[in-house]
Amino acid sequence: MAVIVTKTVDEVRSLVKEWKRKGDTIGLVPTMGYLHEGHGSLIKRAVSENDKVIVSDFVNPIQFAPSEDLSTYPKDFDADRALCEELGADLIFAPEPSEMYKEDFSTHVDVSQITEGLCGKSRPTHFRGVCTVVSKLFHISGANRAYFGQKDAQQLAVVRRMVRDLNFDIQIIGCPIIREDDGLAKSSRNTYLDDKERKAATVLYRALSEGKNLLDGGERDTGVIVEKVQEIIESEPMAKVDYVELLRWDSLENLSLVDGPVLLAVAVYIGRTRLIDNIVYSD
Ligand code: AMP
Repeated sequence: MAVIVTKTVDEVRSLVKEWKRKGDTIGLVPTMGYLHEGHGSLIKRAVSENDKVIVSDFVNPIQFAPSEDLSTYPKDFDADRALCEELGADLIFAPEPSEMYKEDFSTHVDVSQITEGLCGKSRPTHFRGVCTVVSKLFHISGANRAYFGQKDAQQLAVVRRMVRDLNFDIQIIGCPIIREDDGLAKSSRNTYLDDKERKAATVLYRALSEGKNLLDGGERDTGVIVEKVQEIIESEPMAKVDYVELLRWDSLENLSLVDGPVLLAVAVYIGRTRLIDNIVYSD
């Protein structure tokens, strides 16, 4: 069946109403479009676990700061539609910003603490924008389950916290990171990298892998692991570290000695492109 495409909240709601009347379960995959295999893995999982799957394809303006890449964010809607159709999604919701945010839009969802570290430090308004749009998408879609990549580990943790704190009736499913053959995490933003930068970008996964080797070898001192990962990234002349952090997963609390599941996360500028990557480790 061809995937249905709509730009309006009303149309999503009327389809959802019909599906729910028949007792169908609904999976939601929120995306900003320019879909790749990482998004594809979320869609596949959603298709395998739900009767109907909605993919939202919306570059959410309120999660970008004025200095960020909202106006240059890559787009290829025809390719997105083809992938959704191939993977068996039922509906693409691709609204205009004006459909999501009326001129006098005045309500935001603010999650504190867990949004303050990692990406929240350099992007202080980002998670407010994410939580607001994700809340809207949860309400619009009426989904039973929503699928998020561990690629954006802080986002996954923040959404889980929001759902718990505000009693959203939805199950959040975290999905593993899909990588290129050389380890670089797939990302729509990889398209910004020129050939030299693309090669330099492999340093993120190399550094994370060394962090994992240290953990596998029994190292438990957070400071030692962070320092080693940072050193490897800094050995790449085109890379500039935004952060390297090792935190408790998924509360994102600081810890000095590793005991239990942890998140080793990095944000690195390669030229002007900011890339993030991470591993979750538990013994
Ligand atoms: P985005 O379009 O970048 O906002 O991403 C939409 C969803 O896809 C988010 O839940 C991301 O974490 C997830 N995602 C993006 N890249 C990957 C990847 N390489 N592997 C797994 N999930 C991903």
